[in-house]
Amino acid sequence: MHHVRVADVENSIQPAAEMRKLTDALGLTDFAINYYELEPGDSFAFAYHSHEVQEEAFYVISGTATFDTEDGPVEVGADEIVRFDRGEFQRGWNRGDDRVRALAIGAPLEYGTQVKLRYCADCDAEVDSGLGIAPDDEEAVVATCVECGAETGRWYRGSMDGEVP
Ligand SMILES: [Zn+2]
Repeated sequence: MHHVRVADVENSIQPAAEMRKLTDALGLTDFAINYYELEPGDSFAFAYHSHEVQEEAFYVISGTATFDTEDGPVEVGADEIVRFDRGEFQRGWNRGDDRVRALAIGAPLEYGTQVKLRYCADCDAEVDSGLGIAPDDEEAVVATCVECGAETGRWYRGSMDGEVP
């Protein structure tokens, strides 16, 4: 048995004030579960993206999350849950005034190919993106355009001012 206090799990570098990877803390092998807290302007994800093999559900505990989807924006309120199929594009945000607390659950553990669409000003297009630790700052994650290499976003652990990139 694994019994974990969520607040004791390390906070990850994400576009969210808090993202705690319960998957690793619990030693799960077949599905992923992550705890999120989003301040207004925060996001669940680094990009408008899809997973090739992992389906994903988001259970909103409090606040209201807004997911950009292939069918337009969808609001998911407290004690509501939304599910995204394999290959379906989505990116969730907190566009409200209250903090969002939520659980993201995905299975299987692996994503397969992940297409991560972000706007590149240099290419003037929505392009697939690479993600990694910043070469000049190991405490930051950056997204780069796969077409031209331009940096399209940079995130730090914990709260970030305003809307995240
Ligand atoms: Zn580019």
